[in-house]
Amino acid sequence: MLKKQPKNRDDNIRPQNKQKIEKLLSVWLRCRKKLMTNTTFQNGRKARNTWLAGKIKCGKCGYALKTTHNPAGYEYLRCSKRANHKGCPGCGTLGKTEFEQFIFTAMGEKFREFKLLRSGEEKANPKITAYQVELARVEAEIEKLLDTLTGANATLLAYANKKIEDLDNRRKTLSKAIADLSVETLSSQQIELLSGYLDDWENISFEDKRKAADGLISSISATSDYVKIEWKI
Ligand SMILES: [Zn+2]
Repeated sequence: MLKKQPKNRDDNIRPQNKQKIEKLLSVWLRCRKKLMTNTTFQNGRKARNTWLAGKIKCGKCGYALKTTHNPAGYEYLRCSKRANHKGCPGCGTLGKTEFEQFIFTAMGEKFREFKLLRSGEEKANPKITAYQVELARVEAEIEKLLDTLTGANATLLAYANKKIEDLDNRRKTLSKAIADLSVETLSSQQIELLSGYLDDWENISFEDKRKAADGLISSISATSDYVKIEWKI
């Protein structure tokens, strides 16, 4: 059942409050209008501007680089911290198209190198192999230190403890990196898929470009002077 609406509800609101409410309403309406017209806001995560969205960070401050919204003209990558006036000097001038081309070229090179290494080493991820070698070395070093502890004096003990702690931290980091990479290691099927994407780059969809980038890259740190790509392979 519907409740009876009191007559003249406005009568219950004092004039100064009414003014406040009207002001709030107009702000709210302005915000809604902005949200409805600004597609980059609306789509937040589902960015359509660059297939590198979510991967690129400002080389100065580590905040995300976002594409300037200018579909009709020349687009740039811009530090989101700087854009919000929060004090980053910015990443310099990075043209979106050139940057994408640069990363695509790097992806192709890295992928070729990966396939070459992989075929030589019984299909293991070369990065995992390198970590495993280092892990074995770190573990051996820890053991050697533990052996020297029997009968050691206080100074030597303190030194050894510190050293063991450092090595143990490195051991944990390496174990975690190996575990993470093992999860992400590409299957033969995925490698074939990636090959297909990279070979047909001009024709594949935006979503497939995103998938290709995600298959190969963890993150990218960039300014106009330097680019550092953190690879998954
Ligand atoms: Zn920045």
